[in-house]
Amino acid sequence: MRNALVAGNWKMNGSLATIRTLLLGITRGMSAVASVEVAVCPPFIYLPFVSDYLSGRALRLGAQNLGHEAQGAFTGEVSAAMLADYGCRYVIIGHSERRQIFHENDERIAVKFGLAVKEGITPILCVGETLQQRQSAKTEEVVRKQLLAVVSRMGSAVFQNAVIAYEPVWAIGTGKTATPSQAQAVHAFIRELLAEQDAATANMVRILYGGSVKASSAADLFRMPDIDGGLIGGASLQANEFLAICQAAAS
Ligand code: PEP
Repeated sequence: MRNALVAGNWKMNGSLATIRTLLLGITRGMSAVASVEVAVCPPFIYLPFVSDYLSGRALRLGAQNLGHEAQGAFTGEVSAAMLADYGCRYVIIGHSERRQIFHENDERIAVKFGLAVKEGITPILCVGETLQQRQSAKTEEVVRKQLLAVVSRMGSAVFQNAVIAYEPVWAIGTGKTATPSQAQAVHAFIRELLAEQDAATANMVRILYGGSVKASSAADLFRMPDIDGGLIGGASLQANEFLAICQAAAS
């Protein structure tokens, strides 16, 4: 039985004032979603503040990215050990915005994955196809390549302590959610792919869906057998909407 996880990716949004209000709203509603693991991933600069705020609370902390080396002359970067210092339980790796805007390739993503694991931080590995790739029936090929880049570097058992997020690029921030059956098909494919290497790991790894999830679409998605929760962007910036999504994962 896989415990559902809902993680909010705040991206480059918010201020101290709005984050304080958001945290207050989310933490007030957490008792109603106790059976679900819930995490928030603020921008780096707010990690110390959010870490302090969450001390002793059930809400988990995650980061949105990490540096590709353990330490050194990498101006502007933040290492896995620094994230661990502030109590990050999760880190998002390979988000399509990192892949597309910051040109992160599979190799670099696999390196970052390894650095997170070494520090005891659970990576949330994002995979997913563009609209053009879907339309040319390349979804499975793309997702396979993204996933196997990590498996070939780290082995498959590493996914016992990792999370995968299937995030079709065409659904992120567009308002176009994959249908539950479209998402389920890819989630099942990912699990089968891992099962070819290691059935026990495939059975236990949580696979989240991400891409314009709203409270109104969450329940139908989360009802699918291979969807174990969500990675939520825009809707995670409103406490009530985010909590309603968590509630959908709880039921
Ligand atoms: C994301 O960026 O991970 C995401 C899923 O965004 P949104 O929910 O806004 O589509």
